[in-house]
Amino acid sequence: LKLSRNSYEDYTLDYRRQDEFGCFYQRENATILMLVRNSELEGALDSMRSLEDRFNKRYRYDWTFLNDVPFDQEFIEATTAMASGKTQYALIPPADWNRPQWINETLFEARLHEMETEGVLYGGSRSYRNMCRFNSGFFFKQSILNNYDYYFRVEPNVEYYCDFPYDPFRVMRLKGKKYGFVISLYEYEETIPTLWNVVEEYLETNEGKILSKEDSAYAFLTDSNLVGKYYPVVEANSDYNLCHFWSNFEIGDLNFFRSDEYKTFFETLDSKGGFYYERWGDAPVHSIGVSLLLRPDEIIHFDELGYFHSPFGTCPASHAVRLDQRCRCKSDDVSVIDIEPHSCLMRWWKNGSGKHFLKEVQGKN
Ligand code: GDP
Ligand code: MN
Repeated sequence: LKLSRNSYEDYTLDYRRQDEFGCFYQRENATILMLVRNSELEGALDSMRSLEDRFNKRYRYDWTFLNDVPFDQEFIEATTAMASGKTQYALIPPADWNRPQWINETLFEARLHEMETEGVLYGGSRSYRNMCRFNSGFFFKQSILNNYDYYFRVEPNVEYYCDFPYDPFRVMRLKGKKYGFVISLYEYEETIPTLWNVVEEYLETNEGKILSKEDSAYAFLTDSNLVGKYYPVVEANSDYNLCHFWSNFEIGDLNFFRSDEYKTFFETLDSKGGFYYERWGDAPVHSIGVSLLLRPDEIIHFDELGYFHSPFGTCPASHAVRLDQRCRCKSDDVSVIDIEPHSCLMRWWKNGSGKHFLKEVQGKN
């Protein structure tokens, strides 16, 4: 079976031949990154084994592990043994993880109880809120990441269904991409009742300082005019259509998150306390930040990568690609969300990348 992969020929492949001759690829300035608890060792090893097999054994990128408590020896020993690249471990400073002092204790406890009673996912969890706020505003500030440009977020208990046909970090750099995703879907509205109000406030205050709504990927977040016409009805109390990139998989440019624009964006959100009084997830926060501050062509959907994080997966649609990349998934597997009604990918095609493509075509005529 021989496939032409013209679009990626410049910066990849053929790694099978490469293996045979014992050559190694040039690496990018990047690390694989996992925030994880000691108790999740087994799941961490499963994810590592999968990613090493499907991608990293040919490149040997470093693995960076973050934790709010020190990693134990068993965790360090087992993960170091599993990695093909170097491993490093960092303890998150308490100030980057814990609930800030200024959060109103009484209000916080009341909301926590309320959301737990309402059955909101992780609604009653304190640590989950710390995690979401950390991933939204602090992961890229960890000093252990200071010398890297790109990160690849990995979680315990995920699986990569197919061989990677390229080094995604290299694709990012050569194509000028700043954020990459594989799955996008709708957020639970109960977790972010006031998030969009704050975003609108941010947009007003920063008008002229950031990309215009036309130049950014804003349209991906707000096609409410189309709801019920082309897409399933989403009952939203705001203009936000609840679409977000599923952040348990992300490949990103750390310098984007380190920018003043993202910093102001995060600080505006954080100052409202919604990470605690509500249960804002890092997925909608990253997605909204990325979509407001980047052009659509700076965001990449990695179409060829198979991936699973419970309960959803993604699988390349092409039969030939699935064979060529040794995929362990089928497009019609029940967990595959790609073109299901609860996926936002079609909106991405139409209002994200598609919007940009149309612009390019129109510009040329
Ligand atoms: P879900 O994917 O939204 O269901 O949430 P997870 O439980 O998978 O958590 C998201 C990520 O944060 C995973 O990589 C977890 O290992 C990590 N994580 C969640 N809570 C904690 C925590 O309290 N401490 C540490 N060190 N990692 C956490
Ligand atoms: Mn998870």
